[in-house]
Amino acid sequence: MPGSKSYDTETLIVHALNSVDPATRSVVPAWQPSTTFARDEAYEPLNNRVYGRDQGVTLQQAEAVLARLEEGADAMLFASGMGAATAVLQTLQRGDRLLVQRVMYWTLRDWLLDLGEQWGFEVDFFDAAGGLNALEAALRPGETKLVWLEVPANPTWDIVDIAGAARLAHEAGARLAVDSTIATPVLTRPLGLGADIVMHSATKYLGGHSDILAGLLVTAKKDDQWSRMCRLRLLGGSQLGSFDSWLLIRSLRTLFVRVRQSSANALAVARHFDGDPRLEDVLYPGLQRHPQHEIAKRQMDGGFGGMLSLRVRGGFEGAQRVAANCKLILRATSLGGVESLIEHRAAVEGPDSPIPQDLLRISIGIERVEDLISDLDQAL
Ligand code: PLP
Repeated sequence: MPGSKSYDTETLIVHALNSVDPATRSVVPAWQPSTTFARDEAYEPLNNRVYGRDQGVTLQQAEAVLARLEEGADAMLFASGMGAATAVLQTLQRGDRLLVQRVMYWTLRDWLLDLGEQWGFEVDFFDAAGGLNALEAALRPGETKLVWLEVPANPTWDIVDIAGAARLAHEAGARLAVDSTIATPVLTRPLGLGADIVMHSATKYLGGHSDILAGLLVTAKKDDQWSRMCRLRLLGGSQLGSFDSWLLIRSLRTLFVRVRQSSANALAVARHFDGDPRLEDVLYPGLQRHPQHEIAKRQMDGGFGGMLSLRVRGGFEGAQRVAANCKLILRATSLGGVESLIEHRAAVEGPDSPIPQDLLRISIGIERVEDLISDLDQAL
């Protein structure tokens, strides 16, 4: 960055920390695809870089931006959000206990119920709507080694008090990891609230254009557990590729305006349809009547995120019909892109899903909000 003044994180991210290339003075960071690096005559690496699996130039550049964005000590990028989550879960030893919310991103729940058992750790669940009391009751001091939160939680958008959860987890001898995909670092910084690890599916808001699959971990401290995760990525080979890292840097420069716009749109949509007789419920943490609105207000700064859910009249079929009627909002999985998407979670998750049959999850994009409201209105 020009000059010596210390700038706000938002300003630094717009500039990708310091994007001007010293050799060419190009304003946009260069993409460096090399997977290997030259050595001198004594076979010593010339520039402290050996191989691209963890030392790619563009990979590390993206990681530096992301560590600053989440205000952490270090960051690691993975080929997907699931890859990032897996590196955290694989630090658990046989016999350790993991505590997670009952309603959470379903593929991760599936991972825990299937591979977790094979891996040899025990999974306990708590009900996020029960707040810290429910979390505390489910913790087993000395046995629970990791508490994993998703805040806000897919697709009901329950909000757990991260600072309170960190205190309870640490008192019980557990670490706290937070999947902050939905909140993004624009709205919440879990490490500042006491979490040990923050995880993102960077496929969503960080990438923001539905064209990169990526995952992120940022750590509060470079401790033994972090070294273990670094080793798991290095040996597992699950790092993000160089071009996707470059695309991610490009995307991060507009993160703040994208997230603010989709949050403002989501709040307007939620308020517009709240109380609509064609709906059973509107789930959005920005609504004053949301059960954890006060916690959301405390730990989300500048908006309540772009994700909301509508529970429509007519159960499973009713929800399918409303999704089918949408003309602008696209029927597709995923979230966090600039375009709005609608998804009938029960149809996707199948008969074992704990998600209400009538629930439509909507990822609100950055379109004109009047167009989104009128599309939903005609669909209903
Ligand atoms: N966490 C949340 C909250 C998600 O929504 C997703 C994907 O939908 C993931 C994790 C997994 O991320 P990925 O699809 O990048 O593997």
